[in-house]
Amino acid sequence: MTTHFWQTPNRKWFSLTKTCSKCKEEKSNIEFHNDRSKSDGFYSSCRQCTSKAAKIYRTAPHYKEEHNKRNRKYYKGTRSKQYRKDPVHYLFMVAKQRAKKNGLEFSITENDIKVYKICPILGTQLDVLTNKVNTSMSLDRIDNTKGYIPGNVAIISRRANLMKRDCSIEQLQKIISYMRGDV
Ligand SMILES: [Zn+2]
Repeated sequence: MTTHFWQTPNRKWFSLTKTCSKCKEEKSNIEFHNDRSKSDGFYSSCRQCTSKAAKIYRTAPHYKEEHNKRNRKYYKGTRSKQYRKDPVHYLFMVAKQRAKKNGLEFSITENDIKVYKICPILGTQLDVLTNKVNTSMSLDRIDNTKGYIPGNVAIISRRANLMKRDCSIEQLQKIISYMRGDV
């Protein structure tokens, strides 16, 4: 076997061939990915074995979980960016998706959304920079039993929306009575 040498920028001499740690074949250095952390500057396994291992890794269940987690994080980032750009349009689009998913009527256009600068319920200034805080804008169905139909939508604070979301008027009144110690 003839051994060829070449000079790397860090002035060390290395063999032009290398034996793959996986398939044990002796291959030319160009058959290996570069890896600056290795003393000879190359991956220990050849490109073929590396890509084979990567394919197997990607089909492993824990990989899918990790991958989805990363994607969700990215998706969240773009969501808050979209909100900042045009909150009303963003809330309109999100509501449309939600309505489709939950089988709710959706017959509004963006013009049907009543926009306030402050929450009409709590009186707090509405936040246009982030969609994740209590004071963020939130698209509310005024009557929870009805869908997104003209006259039934308004922008209120996220806090107010979360409080009224799952309750009927009667249930809210019962909660108030309870909190006042009437019950
Ligand atoms: Zn190999």
